[in-house]
Amino acid sequence: MRSSIKIASVFGIDVRIHLTFLLFLVWIWFSYYQVAGFAGAVQGVLFILALFLCVLLHEFGHAFAARGFGIMTPDITLLPIGGVARLNRIPDKPRQELIVAIAGPIVNVVIAAILIFVIHRSATLEQLEYLESPRIELLAKLASVNVMLVLFNLIPAFPMDGGRVLRALLAMAMPYARATQIAAWIGQGLAIIFGVIGLFGHPSNPLLIFIAFFIFAGAQQEAAMARAKEGSR
Ligand SMILES: [Zn+2]
Repeated sequence: MRSSIKIASVFGIDVRIHLTFLLFLVWIWFSYYQVAGFAGAVQGVLFILALFLCVLLHEFGHAFAARGFGIMTPDITLLPIGGVARLNRIPDKPRQELIVAIAGPIVNVVIAAILIFVIHRSATLEQLEYLESPRIELLAKLASVNVMLVLFNLIPAFPMDGGRVLRALLAMAMPYARATQIAAWIGQGLAIIFGVIGLFGHPSNPLLIFIAFFIFAGAQQEAAMARAKEGSR
């Protein structure tokens, strides 16, 4: 991906960060700095870095599952909206696509479980005052965002992992192109519902409207890609 810089290479996979991600960190720093000063800014940036470490591990989940099927991942790029693992190809067997798609969210389930275990242990060992310590508060916040990452990624709509899981499940019972078309329709139906709730709910929700557009475009792109793939066969 252009406009990104390589920060590491792990098991042959380049980890890259997009320049907009650096701008995003700067923006986080200044917005925390304004309300909570230097210490607040440090905490805000640390939390975002911890969150994106979880996003990165999620992408490694996809990459390692894909490697199990002989599909390599040259790089993973972090963007302000999340991570992108660039697989050499999309697995064409439904069972493989299912495993590769679900491997990402499973990583976040494991992270959340470990964090909850650590928090629980610390709380029973040191009692309530410990629960209020900033470190435990940070871990609790991180555990809840991992749960949200799982829920968000499992929305059965492209380009989320849930869309791929749905397509893979459908493709076990019908041709791939038909499965993609039905998964795209379900995704667009959900996008319309999200859009309507975002627009007409009280209060209206700009984030939900943005997600609706994102899902709608993702469904169209996926359906077009599947049609092109079908045509080239
Ligand atoms: Zn994913």
